[in-house]
This record gives sequence, C-alpha cells and structure tokens, in this order.
Amino acid sequence: MVINLSEKHSLLSNWISELRDSEIQNDRMRFRRNLERIGEVMAYEISRTLPWEDREITTPLGTSVCKVLKEQPVLATILRAGLPMHQGMLNYFDKAENAFISAYRKHNRDGSFEISLEYISSPPLEDRILILCDPMLATGSSLVKTIHILKNEGIAKEIHVVTAIACTVGIEYVRREQPHVKLWCGAIDEELTAKGYIVPGLGDAGDLAFGEKLQS
Ligand code: URA
Repeated sequence: MVINLSEKHSLLSNWISELRDSEIQNDRMRFRRNLERIGEVMAYEISRTLPWEDREITTPLGTSVCKVLKEQPVLATILRAGLPMHQGMLNYFDKAENAFISAYRKHNRDGSFEISLEYISSPPLEDRILILCDPMLATGSSLVKTIHILKNEGIAKEIHVVTAIACTVGIEYVRREQPHVKLWCGAIDEELTAKGYIVPGLGDAGDLAFGEKLQS
C-alpha cells in the first residue's frame, strides 16, 4: 500500500518545497528541522492507523476514559540521512524503542555502487509494529536490504516505511520485494539518475543535513 501525502495539500508540501529549493536548502538547520517536521506529521498520520485501547485515567476532579496507544512501535532509521526524520517521529512516539542501521553506497571505479550494511542496533522485533524512516527512497535497494536484515531481530507484524521523497522505480521495487509494507510518501518523483539520485529530488539529503563527506 502506498500513501502519497502530497495529494492532501497540507503544510507537509510546504516543507518539502523548502527541502527542494536550492536557495533555502543550504540552511542546514532549516533543512534538518523540515525533515524533523515531516517526521512529526508522518508519526501523526501513522498513529491514526494504529491500535488504541480505552484506559481509565484519574484526574484531580474525577475519572475519564481516554484512548491510549495499545502498544509502542519500534522506530528505525538508516544512518545518517534518516536521523532528523527519526527525531521528528520520536518527538511524537516519545516512548518508542529505537533501531539504527548504517547503510552506505560503496562506490566502484566505474560509477556503480553496492549497498554496504555495517552496523545494526535493534530491540527484538517479533510481533512488533516497526516504523522505518528513510527520507529519500531512490532505487529502494538499501531499504529492502535493511528490512531483510531486520528480520533477523524477529518478524514484525506491521511494517511502515516513511519517506519524504520517493521515486517510482524505488516504490515498485519495494512493493515487489516487500509487498506487506505500508509506504508513506511526502512526494513522488518520476526520474532516477544513473548514480541513483532522484530527479528533481533535492540532492544529497545526508550532505544537506550534516555536511559533505569523503566519498568511499
Ligand atoms: N539519497 C539522497 O540523499 N538523494 C537522492 O536523490 C537519492 C538518495
């Protein structure tokens, strides 16, 4: 299932326009904060689909039966570009447990690259609700590899993937490889360059959020 939130015309589209804008995106603090805000809104939208239960709460004046989340999800992200969105989700799901995965593109001389996964820190995932955020869904290969490797920590009963911008090629790949995943997108772009960048996209989300890195 793919949910494209840009169809709803909300503030989220405003923040995506700022992420894309080459005159605004170099303000790193604003770039990170916009990703964080998108994470917050995505957390809210996902929360509306999660299981809730009634709980009797004692107030200073009486009791009230309130709806509370039945269980906390596990929030996961891929280092390093996912960190600001992850923080946004954690601002709302503030009691959630967290998983972190390092994945990077290991470039070959001919310009091709492989996805290298090197670090995983995760709570047990058996029968949990897993929400994995990755701001740019390009080819989908790091995402699919990540979901695959997280299965070693247990089989989640629900997997949500949250992206700011997704490319149609990546969406199709994820749907084919992991058909049970619910994919939440802030915007969908059509093109992908040979180097795996989304067009028009926004550039390199990790570099814009945290500064340029040495290419390996
Ligand atoms: N990762 C990015 O940061 N940007 C893209 O366009 C694709 C992957």
